[in-house]
Amino acid sequence: MSVTKELIVVKDLHKNFGDLEVLKGIDQTIHQGEVVSIIGPSGSGKSTFLRCLNLLEKPSSGQIIFEGIDIAAENVDIDTHRKKIGMIFQHFNLYNSRTIYDNIAFPLKHLGWSKDKIQKRVLELLELIDLVERKDSYPSQLSGGQKQRVAIARALANNPKVLLCDEATSALDPQTTQSILQLIKKVNKEFGLTVILITHEMAVVKEVCDKVAVMEDGRVV
Ligand code: ADP
Ligand code: MG
Repeated sequence: MSVTKELIVVKDLHKNFGDLEVLKGIDQTIHQGEVVSIIGPSGSGKSTFLRCLNLLEKPSSGQIIFEGIDIAAENVDIDTHRKKIGMIFQHFNLYNSRTIYDNIAFPLKHLGWSKDKIQKRVLELLELIDLVERKDSYPSQLSGGQKQRVAIARALANNPKVLLCDEATSALDPQTTQSILQLIKKVNKEFGLTVILITHEMAVVKEVCDKVAVMEDGRVV
């Protein structure tokens, strides 16, 4: 597959927290189907950048053009935008009181999918992450790698355009990290999913990424 279509174009993105300028003018183009990694020292603004992409943080100025729509603009519909984006985190952020099945089904229920459609999709995802037989388990009964697989399934449930990963393998041992990277690679190749991942592990960069952005003090250098 040739990777040419622009999916996200970031122009002169700034983000301040009060007087603290955290993003100081970011320009980046991310193409459909790419796996891009963001590396850089702690505090350089990597997470803030990712959080701006799904509007967990409101940009202070600049543009984030996502499929032609500037989501940094005032009147953008946040819920519509968020449907296009899945996100996973270092500590998985699963619902501990819900089963694996219900964790994955949760965003689909929230979107008002029918029960039949939800069941079909959740089973498909359980097969993808190879945890069909654990569907009635609770997160506390799974290993870290299995929990991250569930988090990936939940993030992909409604077929987003982009998967954002914030240090998603940082809490995992090297072997488990490999298995998560293989899964990310697989969804990238099979579904053409665009992936943006923050990592501090060079092994991750070498294993899966098409492109690397190095951040330093609020800029891509
Ligand atoms: P990184 O992910 O590269 O470690 P972050 O984006 O988390 O960096 O943070 C960049 C800077 O922004 C840090 O100095 C951090 O303390 C600050 N920061 C992040 N989030 C907030 C917030 N909600 N309020 C105030 N400062 C924040
Ligand atoms: Mg961070």
